[in-house]
Amino acid sequence: MPTFKDKGLVLREVDTAENSKRLLLLTQQKGKIWVFARGAGNAKSKLKAPKMAFCEFVIYDGGQFLSLTQVSQIRTFNAIAGDFDGYCVANFLLEASDKMVLPEMRAEDTLKVILSAFVRLDRGYNPWLVFSSSTFKLLQLEGFVPITANCSSCNNVFPQKYFFGQDGVACEKCGEIPFSGEALLALEYILKAPIHEIFNFRASADVLDALVSAVLLFFGYHVDAQLKSMEFIRR
Ligand SMILES: [Zn+2]
Repeated sequence: MPTFKDKGLVLREVDTAENSKRLLLLTQQKGKIWVFARGAGNAKSKLKAPKMAFCEFVIYDGGQFLSLTQVSQIRTFNAIAGDFDGYCVANFLLEASDKMVLPEMRAEDTLKVILSAFVRLDRGYNPWLVFSSSTFKLLQLEGFVPITANCSSCNNVFPQKYFFGQDGVACEKCGEIPFSGEALLALEYILKAPIHEIFNFRASADVLDALVSAVLLFFGYHVDAQLKSMEFIRR
């Protein structure tokens, strides 16, 4: 089948010679794929696929490489660019999934998490709630699941205070950063909930702070501590 259709997002683009581009897509069927978009750098090109838009792509499989022949936007998330924090969170999710999803791997659920997060950011949900829930869910999908039942380091049951460390929730002795009982409940909810429901909880500013710091620490240990977009999140 030399031509096929797939739906997804642009994760990254690279300019090439003669005003063309190579686009890294995250798609429902094929996972992470590079496609060549001839002339996409021209102002009048029909192969414009904006970042942060859910698109349908028509792709020609030439054997050696894939070429994009058509793009149509299914859904745009225009309000995200209007909020700096939301925009940083959206960029982080694209960069993080680029890092986590390997070529040839199914990525349907990863794409679902990102699109659900984009829908919430577009509607003006708290970006830090969206950030912590979707990042913990992405990590869980890749097999990085924080331990929540006992101290993740010494296995002791929790005393009064909760902390967070390399492998999850930890006791006072083993943890690196403060966590809380409320944050633990929120984290357990995120891990248990189906993807479209991970944002449906209320959290105080303190709980969100604890979740954001915890997911940054956990992501740093298990995936990458140096993503460009993390700088804006850490601030
Ligand atoms: Zn411990």
